[in-house]
Amino acid sequence: MMSDEYAVIGNPIGHTKSPLIHGLFAKETGQDMSYISIEGPVEPDGAFADTVRSFIAAGGRGMNVTAPFKLKAFALSDERSERAALAGAVNAMKFENGRIVAENFDGVGLVRDIEVNLHQPMAAKRVLILGAGGAVRGALLPFIAARPAELVVANRHVEKAEALVEQVAAGGSLTACGYAELAAMGQFDLVVNATSASLTGELPPVPASVFSARGAAYELAYGKGLTPFLRLAREAGVQGVADGVGMLVEQAAEAFAWWRGIRPQTRALIDRLTIPLE
Ligand code: NDP
Repeated sequence: MMSDEYAVIGNPIGHTKSPLIHGLFAKETGQDMSYISIEGPVEPDGAFADTVRSFIAAGGRGMNVTAPFKLKAFALSDERSERAALAGAVNAMKFENGRIVAENFDGVGLVRDIEVNLHQPMAAKRVLILGAGGAVRGALLPFIAARPAELVVANRHVEKAEALVEQVAAGGSLTACGYAELAAMGQFDLVVNATSASLTGELPPVPASVFSARGAAYELAYGKGLTPFLRLAREAGVQGVADGVGMLVEQAAEAFAWWRGIRPQTRALIDRLTIPLE
């Protein structure tokens, strides 16, 4: 009998670590499954949906979704979790009884990496998130669930941060602003760079005054060493700095547990995949 089939779909997909991660999870937990990568078609319209449906028809049980298909996967799904609905984006799908059930584990993976792996619980803390794109939309509900005293979302196009904050009823502890306002806001216990600035070696215009030496700085991009953002945090005396490799492994573990009903260990794998920051 064939083992249960899973895949990650994206374009490009050559760089993906998901088959390695899920392969090791399967081995560790003794699950009989395969996990491949699929380069999805960007055009024509509808070709992405056809690829997913052929995978299901061939016996596929679930899929991870990465750029640029997270919105298309959302549109294709029959059922969505609350956090996937707020994100408007999907990073994991489960195929059952002819239905496509959709989730977004990026945010829970991020929160788990910060709180469990990096020992930085957010409860009652001041937390600053930079950016208001897909990653932040997916992370917002899990961040609120972690009950920070204050959660500030800063974005270059401030109206995007404002629109996002308005969608979530979290009371006065959740606010949106532009970068210019950050200089007057004091120090934060945790600053998360969820912009894509680091992918091009840029620094979001964040003032060094937001960092607290006893706090932490987290960069969602990974494998890039000390990004300008992490460098700024270091120069401000922040000891606890980390990149997004732990988030990557933790979102994979969430999807794996959702599909298979068993949670894999993540620590050793994060260590193995981590490229030292300096
Ligand atoms: P999006 O394209 O959806 O959003 C990009 C965001 O970055 C926007 O808020 C944009 O601001 C902001 N931005 C881009 N360039 C700059 C700049 N030079 N200065 C200030 N702000 C800037 O990207 P995603 O949300 O999907 O991804 C964000 C980051 O998270 C990427 O680095 C990605 O690689 C990483 N990521 C990591 C994951 C992991 O598992 N570790 C998972 C998912 C994402 P504006 O709206 O004003 O244009």
